[in-house]
Amino acid sequence: MSYDSNNIFARILRGEIPCNKAYEDQYALAFHDIAPQAPVHLLVIPKGEYVSFDDFSRLASAEAIAGFYRAAQKVAEQLGLQAGGYRILANTGADAHQEVMHYHLHIFAGCDLGSMIKKSLV
Ligand code: 5GP
Repeated sequence: MSYDSNNIFARILRGEIPCNKAYEDQYALAFHDIAPQAPVHLLVIPKGEYVSFDDFSRLASAEAIAGFYRAAQKVAEQLGLQAGGYRILANTGADAHQEVMHYHLHIFAGCDLGSMIKKSLV
């Protein structure tokens, strides 16, 4: 799938659509999800144009990949999420119901997040 530069996260990166920013550096932008599914629900996105985890991991430079994951760790640290713990999730493609085609990590925290996946699926 080719990258659509008009996807909603690309527009947030360009400042065309506002976001509730939690963290930003040269590699990543983190902001609060508009429809949170936990008391803390953040999205961390790379600044480059990558559709998915698959795309990012294959095509991004080693520096961009390291910078992105270090940024995600800084988000969790700055928001004090280590104490209670948190979950990172990256929906990739149709079966995972990826809705926004700009690679992103979800960070969930702020309560007991329960088991990792619905037991009915396994
Ligand atoms: P996906 O299903 O692609 O992994 O998750 C996309 C996420 O983006 C969803 O959790 C959705 O609530 C969030 N989202 C969609 N549009 C916006 C927006 O305009 N602003 C913010 N902050 N989050 C959004």
